[in-house]
Amino acid sequence: MPRVRVLVLQHGLGALDYAVPDGLDLGPGDIVEVPLGPRTIVGVVWEADRWAAREVADAKLRAVVRRFDVPAMTAGLRRLIEWTGAYYMAPPAAVLRMALSVPSALVAAAGVIEYRLGAVPDKLTPQRTAAAERLGGRQGSVRELARHGGVSEGVIRGMVKAGMLTPIAVSPDAAPPVPDPDFAQPVLSYEQAVAAEDIARAVGTRDFAPFVLDGVTGSGKTEVYFEGIAAALRADGGRETGTGQTLVLVPEIALTAPWLARFAARFGCAPTPWHSDLRGSERRRAWRAVASGDARVVVGARSALFLPYADLRLIVVDEAHESSFKQDEGVQYHARDVAVMRAQIEGIAVVLATATPAIETRVQVARGRYTELKLPTRFGGAQLPRVATIDLRTNPPPRGHWLSLPLVGALRETFVAGEQSLLFLNRRGYAPLTLCRSCGERIECPQCTAWLVEHRLTGRLQCHHCGYNVPVPKLCPACAAPDSLVPCGPGVERVAEEVARVLPDLRVALVTSDTIFSPARAAALVDAVEAHEIDLLIGTQLVTKGYHFPDLMLVGVVDADLGLAGGDLRAGERTFQQIAQVSGRAGRGAKPGRVLLQTHQPEARIMRALVDYDAEGFYAAETDARRDLGLPPFGRLAGIVVSGEDEAAVAATARSLGRSAPQADGLAVLGPAPAPLAMLRGRHRQRLLVHARRSLDLQGIIAEWLEGVAVPASVRVTVDIDPYNFL
Ligand code: ADP
Ligand code: ZN
Repeated sequence: MPRVRVLVLQHGLGALDYAVPDGLDLGPGDIVEVPLGPRTIVGVVWEADRWAAREVADAKLRAVVRRFDVPAMTAGLRRLIEWTGAYYMAPPAAVLRMALSVPSALVAAAGVIEYRLGAVPDKLTPQRTAAAERLGGRQGSVRELARHGGVSEGVIRGMVKAGMLTPIAVSPDAAPPVPDPDFAQPVLSYEQAVAAEDIARAVGTRDFAPFVLDGVTGSGKTEVYFEGIAAALRADGGRETGTGQTLVLVPEIALTAPWLARFAARFGCAPTPWHSDLRGSERRRAWRAVASGDARVVVGARSALFLPYADLRLIVVDEAHESSFKQDEGVQYHARDVAVMRAQIEGIAVVLATATPAIETRVQVARGRYTELKLPTRFGGAQLPRVATIDLRTNPPPRGHWLSLPLVGALRETFVAGEQSLLFLNRRGYAPLTLCRSCGERIECPQCTAWLVEHRLTGRLQCHHCGYNVPVPKLCPACAAPDSLVPCGPGVERVAEEVARVLPDLRVALVTSDTIFSPARAAALVDAVEAHEIDLLIGTQLVTKGYHFPDLMLVGVVDADLGLAGGDLRAGERTFQQIAQVSGRAGRGAKPGRVLLQTHQPEARIMRALVDYDAEGFYAAETDARRDLGLPPFGRLAGIVVSGEDEAAVAATARSLGRSAPQADGLAVLGPAPAPLAMLRGRHRQRLLVHARRSLDLQGIIAEWLEGVAVPASVRVTVDIDPYNFL
C-alpha cells in the first residue's frame, strides 16, 4: 500500500506514516489533513529519509484525509525548517508552525460582501449623519464600518436597508497590487549606483550572494537596496509574467510608516505587510498571496522568514545590527542568521543593511564570506554631525535634574534658531525605582526580580518584564508610612518634566512604545515634526531608527554610560550602535548637526571613538577582545535556563545538570547559578552557560547531555543557541 511520511503540526510528535488513499497523488511538500486520535490535524508530506517514524504495519496505517489545494511547500522551505529545528534545538513542529501559522489560509474563502457609502439622502438621523461623515469613502464589512463610523452594527445595517450603503462583492483573496520597478527611478549617486548594480546583478544570477550594505546614516542605503527589489521584480521578463519575490525584514514594524511611504513613491503601490498585528483576514490573504507568488514584495517582522514564498529572489535585512532580530521565546532563532541561511538554501541574494554592522557580520566580511558594499558619505553632500562629550563630573546637573547646563544651553540655542532637537534616554516611564524614605523599601514586582517602573502618563507602577501593574500607592506597601515614596532616577517622562520646567517654551513629543504603539501614531508624529509643531523629541531607542527630519539639528544623549553598566559581552557594541544610530538623526539636511553625549567617562575608548568617528578602531579593539576570550563569533555560546514555580525542583534539576555537565577539550560549562532575573512571571530561574570552541558539535553535545538528565514535569529546560540575552 502506498504510504507517506508526514511531519505533523503537533507539539511533541515528529513525523508519522499514513496510507495514501486511492486517487490521491502525494509528493514531498504537499500540505495535508491527517487523522490523529479522534481528530484531524495539519501536516506536510516529507521525504521519508529525513525523519524517523514509528514502524506501523500496513493494516494499522490510517489514511490521509485530503490534500489542501494550496501550492506544495518548496524544498527550500523544507530544508530551512529542518535546519532551524536542528540548529536552535527546537521541536520540528514548533518550526513548522511558523510556516503554517494561518490554518484558515489552507482553504479558499467564499466571497464576502462589503459596503461603501452611496447616495446620502438629505434628511438623516443625527447618528446616521455622523456615521456617514466619518465613513467617507471607506469600504468594509458591517463590523468594520461600525467601528470606523463610531456607531453600532445595527445602525450600519439600517443604513444598508435604507440603500445608503452599496453592497460590493469582493474576493477575500484578491491579489495585492504589483509594485512597478520603473515607477519612479531615482538618480543614484556614483557610490549608490555601484552598490546597487552589484546587488541587482546578483539578483539576476540566482546564486547565493550575501552582501553587507555598510553605509553611514543618511547615505541612502534604502535607495540602493530598492534597486535590488526592482531587479527581483523584473526577474523572468517583466512584471506581467515575472514571479520574483523579495522579503524585507525590519526590526520594528510600528516604525515602517515613513519606509512604506518611500516604497510607494518608488514603486507606485504598497508592499504586502506581515506582522503580528494583522487582522485574521489580512493574514490569510497575505499568506495565500505569498504562496501563490502574487505578493511580490513582503515587508515584515522576523516571522515573515518562514512564509512559503513561491519564488524568493532577494532578502533584505534592514538595520541588520538590531538585537531585536533575535527571538527570545519559543524557537529562539536569530532572524539575521536564518535570513542568510534561507538565502544560501534558496541560492539567492541577501543584503544586510546597516550603518553599524555587528561584529559577527564584520568577521564574515573579513573571512571573505560576505561581500561588503560601502557608502562612506551622506547622500547629497550632507555632512555628518559634530560629536562632543559633556563631562558630568565637571558639569553635574543640579540635584534632581538630569540635564547639564551645557546641554540645556544647546537646547535653548537650537530652539531660538527655529530648529529641532532630540533627547535620547533608553528608559521608558518616569522613574526606574520607587524607594521608601522611611524604611528603605524598593518596590518590586511580586512575580519578577525587578523593580516596578513608575509611569506618570498612566499613574501606575509597571513591571517591564511581565506587564504587572498597580496604581502608584499613597502609602509605603512595606511600612505604611505616608508621603515617603520617592522616585529615583530618570525615565523619558521625567526628562520631559524637567524640560517643561527649564525650557517651558519648547513643544515636546515623547517617543516611546507607550506613545508610539501603532504605524498610525508613528505617521502622526512624523507629520507633526515636519510641520514644526514639535521643537523637541524625547525618546527611547524607538527614536534611533528610520526617521529622517531635515531640521533636527541637535541630538543630546542624556546618559551615554547607561548601556555599559552590568554589561554582557555585547554591551559596548550595543551602546556604540545605539549612540551612532541616534547621532545619525542630527543634521540630515543641508546644515551639519551636532551631538552632545553626557557621560562620566569621556576618556573611555567608546566615547572617544564616537567623537572621532573611529568605528574601525572601536570595532578592531572589541573584536580583538572577543578573539582573545574565544567569545562569539570566535567561539560559541549556549545559554541553558532551568525554570519552574517550585524553587526546590528547579534548583535540584539545575544541580543535576551541573553535575553531569559534559567534559571535552575546548568546552566549559559555567553554573548553575540563579539567573540575574532569578524570578520571572512567578517562575524561579537558574542558568548555565556553555562556552565551546567553534569546531565542537555544540548542539550534539548538549542534546546528549540533556537526554541523560531526568527533568520533573514541573520544570522546564530551555536551550538558547547563540544567546543575546543573559538575564
Ligand atoms: P540611510 O538609510 O542610509 O540612513 P536613507 O536611505 O534614509 O539613508 O537616505 C537619506 C535621505 O537621502 C533620504 O531622505 C532619501 O530619500 C535621500 N536619498 C538617498 N538617495 C537618494 C537618491 N538617489 N535620490 C534622491 N534622494 C535620495
Ligand atoms: Zn514582573
